Amino acid sequence: MRENRIKDIVIVGGGTAGWMSAAALIQLLPNGYNYRLIESDQISTIGVGEATIPSIRNFNMHLGIDENDFLRNTQGTFKLGIEFVNWGINHSKYFHGFGSVGRDQPTANFFHYWLKLNQLGMVGGLEPYSINTVASMLGKFSVGRPDLPNSPLSDLSYAYHFDAGLYARYLRTYAEQRGVKRTEGRIVQTLLRQDDGFVEALVMENGEKISADFFIDCSGMVGLLIEKALQTGYDDWSHWLPCDTAIAVPCELGGSTQAHTRSTAHTAGWQWRIPLQHRIGNGHVFSSHFMDTAQAQEILMNNLDGRALAEPRQIKFTTGKRKKVWNKNVVAIGLSGGFMEPLESTSIHMVKTGLMRLISFFPDKDFDQVDIDNYNRLTDKEYSQIRDFLILHYKVNQRDDSEFWRYCRNMPVPDSLQLKLDLFTSNGRILRENEELFPEDSWLQVMHGQGMRPRRYNPVVDQRTKEEIAGFLYNTQAVIRKCVDAMPTHLDYIRANCLA
Ligand code: FAD
Repeated sequence: MRENRIKDIVIVGGGTAGWMSAAALIQLLPNGYNYRLIESDQISTIGVGEATIPSIRNFNMHLGIDENDFLRNTQGTFKLGIEFVNWGINHSKYFHGFGSVGRDQPTANFFHYWLKLNQLGMVGGLEPYSINTVASMLGKFSVGRPDLPNSPLSDLSYAYHFDAGLYARYLRTYAEQRGVKRTEGRIVQTLLRQDDGFVEALVMENGEKISADFFIDCSGMVGLLIEKALQTGYDDWSHWLPCDTAIAVPCELGGSTQAHTRSTAHTAGWQWRIPLQHRIGNGHVFSSHFMDTAQAQEILMNNLDGRALAEPRQIKFTTGKRKKVWNKNVVAIGLSGGFMEPLESTSIHMVKTGLMRLISFFPDKDFDQVDIDNYNRLTDKEYSQIRDFLILHYKVNQRDDSEFWRYCRNMPVPDSLQLKLDLFTSNGRILRENEELFPEDSWLQVMHGQGMRPRRYNPVVDQRTKEEIAGFLYNTQAVIRKCVDAMPTHLDYIRANCLA
């Protein structure tokens, strides 16, 4: 029988995606494969990408990484959600906290009980019913307390902010210790097999030829193998997500180290603020069709908490994804596969899901097209679900102060999103497809936070009197507040456990 098993695997690129790939593959598939990672010191990594969503914890856990050790080595902090500022009118604010809002009941989501009383003028905003929001606003943090199964603390949902460059370095040590070989040098040519167009080998600047059975393309936006060599093609989504440029700059810490990312809308985009232990990461994401770079940079520099620690850096991007992220014997992971702006911090998560999906569809030398097609189908679905969630933020904005926001409000959106908007507007129901990343409560917090108000609530909540519902809401709020009062501050938690 022909030996069909893949032996040599080359990872192209040593940014976050490259080293996450190397670390995950050597840890989860340690036997029978030779892993080599190629990176060039002449081609820098993207170097931003500092906020995450809770699934990063799961990735680190698969690798057996200790949380405190990881945060110490990456200057990391905790993240309970995102504060959105100025996305509505009159300097409004809202919070997208991870985890749930209230406690869903067997018959209806918590939200519908709240909505009924809100429509009756008996209660105010949603914020007091999310433990993440309350804790974050009060500067508190605690990890989950599984020993308190009936408390909202039992499975507190959180993620991290960290220095992406330090994370890549941390994972490099991890992967090299376990046997991943690293080659420094610039790839100058990709050789394709004549008969089927598969990638056969990479030619380095020094003339060395590196061949492999399977290639993971983590070369960043250039897509060295997936695009330059295989010419896979790209779906451009900038008509829905019109921002195409980011200017990034770190600054000194000013004020407290909050356990949340802040996203502040400006006239043609928005600004991120990500507090780490040693600095704040900032960036202005904007549309160059509606604002020039000099103006965007001025806005950014005028909205820093402290002194800038480096020159601002501009990054151009086209929102979208490769037509196939797996083509022949190349899988694109990270920016080589596609990019959507960091509004909900999803890119590093998608590196993780790309890798986990790859492991479940891992090929042999036959490269069965059915596996490849299904990998691509599931990836497409994931991309478009996240894309819809990002478009939501723009589409339902209430700003009327610039051409950019008016364009966003009036633009047609994908049918899949329109369906969700119609359903919510009509009766407050949120349609969540199977395995969709963002849960109902995420959609709810953004829809409500940006001013969408359903015409009706779910009538099944009328099974309870308004007094009963008021009691239920009051208790939910009181329990959350009691838990948060007992938490240490975010800074004290870091000082005690994971100071760099
Ligand atoms: P890169 O970092 O670009 O790495 C590419 C690698 O390929 C480098 O090592 C380079 O040396 C190598 N390479 C390229 N060409 C060659 C060659 N010819 N020969 C040899 N080596 C080569 N994600 C989040 O999850 N949260 C965020 O908050 C977030 N913010 C972001 C903000 C911005 C503005 C941008 C652009 C991205 C952000 N991301 C964020 C995304 C995140 O930064 C990336 O997903 C992540 O860093 C992965 O990048 P990468 O490894 O794919 O590519």
